[in-house]
Amino acid sequence: MTVVVRWAPSPTGRIHLGNARPALLNWFFARRMGGRYVLRMDDTDQARSTREFADGIEADLDWLGVRPDLLVRQSERTALYDAARDRLIASGRLYPCYETEEELDRKRSRARLLGKPPIYDRAALALSDEDRARLEAEGRKPHWRFKLDGRPVTFNDLIKGPQTVNTASMSDPVLIRADGSYLYTLPSVVDDIDLGITHVIRGEDHVSNTGTQIEIIEALDGAVPHFAHHNLLTDAQGQGFSKRLGSQSISDFRADGYEPLAIAIVATLTGTSLSVEPYASLDAIAERLELSMISHGAARFDPAELDTLNARLLHTMSYQEAQPRLSVLGLEGEAIWLLLRDNLVRFADMTEWSKLVTGPVEPVVAPEDREFIALAKALLPPEPWDENTWGQWTNALKGATGRKGKALFLPLRLALTGRADGPELKSLLVLLGHKACLDRLP
Ligand code: GLU
Repeated sequence: MTVVVRWAPSPTGRIHLGNARPALLNWFFARRMGGRYVLRMDDTDQARSTREFADGIEADLDWLGVRPDLLVRQSERTALYDAARDRLIASGRLYPCYETEEELDRKRSRARLLGKPPIYDRAALALSDEDRARLEAEGRKPHWRFKLDGRPVTFNDLIKGPQTVNTASMSDPVLIRADGSYLYTLPSVVDDIDLGITHVIRGEDHVSNTGTQIEIIEALDGAVPHFAHHNLLTDAQGQGFSKRLGSQSISDFRADGYEPLAIAIVATLTGTSLSVEPYASLDAIAERLELSMISHGAARFDPAELDTLNARLLHTMSYQEAQPRLSVLGLEGEAIWLLLRDNLVRFADMTEWSKLVTGPVEPVVAPEDREFIALAKALLPPEPWDENTWGQWTNALKGATGRKGKALFLPLRLALTGRADGPELKSLLVLLGHKACLDRLP
């Protein structure tokens, strides 16, 4: 059996870290199993879905490194949903209801007053043909509900273990609105059947929907896929990410200069038994991460962890990988990359750090160090310079002044770079060369 998974975003906004989690977990699973990955745009909500958001999702997914095998848009598949609708009506599983929102509200309030669960009472099932004709003559348009079996539906969740959803405690779900448009459930199920989806990997907010969906799949004689419901990622405050509330989007992280791999690692390994640490590629994560490693508890995003991870990925990045991006910044040479990469938190920091090599640098010399720096200038070893030059120079200065440790090194760093932190001076010195050092030392 070839594994087929799908990631099914609604193009109603830019995707955030919480969306990237199922996008990538599905990708890892497909890679691990040699399967196929379908990107499905859940764009049946015409009021909120836009092509621009859909294109944005494709671009974000591509930036993260995911290459779908197939892209489908639900807005182009209505004929399939209509056919399924007709089958369910014919088999008596989909029935028209005429209650208005206010009537349904009243029913729910009454049930609550009587201490009963506010479940739809199926009054519409008792309507005769004449009743329906009369209601339609009044101008009422039906919405359509799926008649649940009202039994415990069980499935073995690949993350959460055995699950039971008792559809007896649920209202028959509305699948079609009064204006004829489809809610999420029916198109999703029809597509899962039609596209041969073998594994549905998605957030745990969909567990209770799964009971209904399995019933509908069975009513349509479809093959029930495996399900895996993962814990949801929350922001640092423990709140769910939300497109509507304007959570930081993947494109925001991109614009802020984060590495796509750092975003992918944080979005997926947070809240699993694997550590949030550097991996060489998405495939390297796919090889390690199993669905069973996803924890049942919360997964909280930590922005500081992302910064640390981003930095660690840059600190081990090879020159080959960095080179095209360095040349965009007008920088060339492996030596400058190896010298400075350890200081980076984001790649773009190279622009600032490279000034330590290319200048201009404003030397900093404290009044009490003026004499020391003048002496240092006089004792600069003659060329040729190599990695030993720094040792020769500072040893000579130590002998001449008795300074050691911080008192010896910090004034030199401040004078040569204008700052108290930064790359190894031993290597910087070689890159700068004799003339630039002389010029820099006041
Ligand atoms: N569009 C749905 C969502 O974003 C898809 C859910 C599913 O994977 O079935 O929640």
